[in-house]
Amino acid sequence: MTARPGGSDEVSLPFGQGRISGTLGIFLGALSVLAVLCFHFPEYLTTPELRRAYPVDVLRWVLLAGMVLAVFFGALSLLLSPSKRLGFAGIALALVAQWLGGAHVEVDAFDAPVVSFGFDWLVLALLANSLVFVFIERVWPLRAEQPTLRRGWRLDLAYYAVSHLGVGVVLLATTFFSESLFGWAVNDDLQGVIRSQPFLLQLIEVLFVADLTQYAGHRAMHEIPSLWRFHAVHHCPEAMDWLSGSRMHFVELLLIRALVITPVYLLGFSEAAVNAYVIWVGIQGVLIHSNTRIPFGWLDQLVVTPHFHHWHHAADAEAIDRNYAANLPVIDRLFGTYVGNRGRWPERYGVVGKPLPESFFGQLLYPFMGGSGKS
Ligand SMILES: [Zn+2]
Ligand SMILES: [Zn+2]
Repeated sequence: MTARPGGSDEVSLPFGQGRISGTLGIFLGALSVLAVLCFHFPEYLTTPELRRAYPVDVLRWVLLAGMVLAVFFGALSLLLSPSKRLGFAGIALALVAQWLGGAHVEVDAFDAPVVSFGFDWLVLALLANSLVFVFIERVWPLRAEQPTLRRGWRLDLAYYAVSHLGVGVVLLATTFFSESLFGWAVNDDLQGVIRSQPFLLQLIEVLFVADLTQYAGHRAMHEIPSLWRFHAVHHCPEAMDWLSGSRMHFVELLLIRALVITPVYLLGFSEAAVNAYVIWVGIQGVLIHSNTRIPFGWLDQLVVTPHFHHWHHAADAEAIDRNYAANLPVIDRLFGTYVGNRGRWPERYGVVGKPLPESFFGQLLYPFMGGSGKS
């Protein structure tokens, strides 16, 4: 695994030289260590909403498979690569996971603290997202020359980790926001009518209501300069892929989530409809940033696809402040901010003007220091 010179963290992973297997070994070994820690400290490291639904025996088998595969890929790398660093690191991480108790750590009853970190959510989402989306990006790439570990991947991985670890805090803060500020507006009769509708109808309504609020918030972040400085962080990646969408300032994360959750809470949709919506946006949010030209056909007109959202991130003049919707393109058509450009993809991505700092903390402070640029 070699990083390019010039400060870039881009890593080339040519086939057959033991770097792909070495990287996979480290990846699975590191996730295994984190997973074992979740079994040891579930009260602090797991998400209450998730752990209630866990098929624990299945997760233990997944953990065991992760450790075995980490050793397998580590050994493969040792065979193929002249440098033994990667191979040994993957095997060492798997051995640490085993030394910590592996898949056999007993979980005792515990009292849950008010807030916990989502290490379980990070491990499971990263495993599932990387498995599915790296596959899609290799099979149907938009820019085949763009490596999986492209420039800026470490920063985006840091954003990905922070947003997943902080899922409990975000949930608590946004629920508190909507219930304490808008609790007075809850109407039981209205909620009863909404909940009595068929599931599919409720799901479509949640999507529409949530996307309408998201549209308003997103557009405000583009048009109000003090808000744009927060949102510019999401627009600064110059390469699009499944990981780049996680680059988001925590103020925006809280603001948009609180905004979207409030009408959904007030209207009182059924738990099944809200859960389906959360799963949908979880997958959709990653997919629309992906480096893929997977053909969606007519679906392109109905739901937001990578093509639609790539144009939102484009630095090309024709696409500035267009395609705000996260799920339903019809909302941009309604408000006159739709750009189609069928059959064409953007030339470049990122903010126009002065570039943002490239470090996590530099970007954290950036909105408070003033800034410029637009996309
Ligand atoms: Zn935007
Ligand atoms: Zn985006």
